[in-house]
Amino acid sequence: MKKGIAASKGYAIGYVSIKENEEIIITNDKVKDTKEEIERLVKALDISRTQIEEVKQKAFENMGEEKAAVFESHIMLLEDPEFVGAIKLEIEDNKTNAEKAVSSVSGTFLSIFEAMEDEYMKERAADIKDVSNRIVLNLLGKVKSLEIQEENTVLVAEDLTPSDTAQLDKEKVIAFLTNIGGRTSHSAIMARTLEIPAVVGMKDITSLVKNKDFVIVDGIEGNVIINPDKETIKIYEEKAKEYKKEVEELKSLIEVKTSTRSGKRIDVAGNIGQPEDVNKVIENGADGVGLFRTEFLYMDKDKLPTEEEQFESYKYVLQKMENKPVVIRTLDIGGDKKLSYLPLPEEMNPFLGYRAIRLCLDRVDIFKVQLRALLRASVFGNLKVMFPMISSLSEFLKAKDIVEECKKELKAENIKYSDSIEWGIMVEIPAAAVCAKELAKHVDFFSIGTNDLIQYTLAADRMSEKVSYLYEPMHPAVLSLIKMTIEGAHGEGKWCGMCGEMAGDIDAIPTLVEYGLDEFSMSASSILGAKKVILDQE
Ligand code: PEP
Ligand code: MG
Repeated sequence: MKKGIAASKGYAIGYVSIKENEEIIITNDKVKDTKEEIERLVKALDISRTQIEEVKQKAFENMGEEKAAVFESHIMLLEDPEFVGAIKLEIEDNKTNAEKAVSSVSGTFLSIFEAMEDEYMKERAADIKDVSNRIVLNLLGKVKSLEIQEENTVLVAEDLTPSDTAQLDKEKVIAFLTNIGGRTSHSAIMARTLEIPAVVGMKDITSLVKNKDFVIVDGIEGNVIINPDKETIKIYEEKAKEYKKEVEELKSLIEVKTSTRSGKRIDVAGNIGQPEDVNKVIENGADGVGLFRTEFLYMDKDKLPTEEEQFESYKYVLQKMENKPVVIRTLDIGGDKKLSYLPLPEEMNPFLGYRAIRLCLDRVDIFKVQLRALLRASVFGNLKVMFPMISSLSEFLKAKDIVEECKKELKAENIKYSDSIEWGIMVEIPAAAVCAKELAKHVDFFSIGTNDLIQYTLAADRMSEKVSYLYEPMHPAVLSLIKMTIEGAHGEGKWCGMCGEMAGDIDAIPTLVEYGLDEFSMSASSILGAKKVILDQE
């Protein structure tokens, strides 16, 4: 048995087809006629564009609008004056051949993206690789396609690009395995969207198997069994049957409003990082959005997003959710989340440093742009706003003062905003949990951020593998703080939710229901499983 990272749930039993990488040889040859070389480049860009349009159409048919949008960004890159301009300049100035010029310019762009700490941005580098690879193949006259003829194919590759995955025929490819990648890599995200099992980050699977090998893919445990015996096949066929039944059963919960057996209504909401993520949240029957991590709007760029850009994103989510609650968290930058264009001080302990609300209260100019956008968007739905990393009442009150300033400005400008926005805080610092009773007098709601609360309570860095054994959601100290927070909220008639990973942990849900948690917010794919567990509680 070979282990990797479970990237997309499910079981598959089928035959290996290894995706061979096209051999690309790029020379350092100089060109004589740069005009002719640029014409060659323009032609390759045109062909690439037509191909991407086709892939986009396929992606739309296979995976829907949201995933097809990835290819819109590929087309944008083909038309990006900075990208294309730099390639042309390289040809003109240095007489570099077009293939080499594309590869060196994309290399520069790639190194910028890959150097970013954020996983999401790192993965955007995959888009650049995909597009530049395509241009080079077209310059070399090679075709890039992934036609799978056989049914029951388990595709094995070094990695799969977004255009590879978009072209996959779900009737034939039943799973895939890759050497590289993690849970947030493009191929993993695509596999979850296609709902086919995948194990990624297998390091050397391409050399462990050969074409036509028979394999079992266990996308739940992240295991692959190569040429299994009859007994093992039987066991996995049974597991696959069970799993399929479970998935079908869960689908019946999409429309179900979640209550416990004793009748307590509990909201199950979804976490999002980008406005489009809201579509998956809706598809999984969520009661609302419990956490919109707005920092992703700031990360996907080279400068701060404008009020207008933010307004459009918030409005989009609010309208899509059709009056269901949408909890938007104000900028939570710092710690592990950095912005390339906003240098933060070098600190010994960035997680204990200048981040989140601390930064916003210091950079009121940045904070106000977001608050104005939120206030303006509030008329389009049921908006709730929360501030991250609150450690004491004064921070909340200061933030609210700035909100009041923004309201005054908007009023003077004759711009509407809703008067019924709820204002809450994330409880993710132990001090806030301990002071919950007092804080609850002033806020409209709490949302417990267990990802941080656990690391601060147990002094165990959430990013460190070395101390991960200490990072224990069910530690009595953590549970006690959670209980205190919920009771603090209820004592003042306020509601309390949770948006850290623990909210979607089926082993923790029974305890949280028992404590009286009112709202559980999690990644879209965990929603139905969580609903099932909650429905089973007293
Ligand atoms: C948390 O800390 O639990 C949380 C939801 O916020 P983030 O993971 O973005 O820090
Ligand atoms: Mg947090």
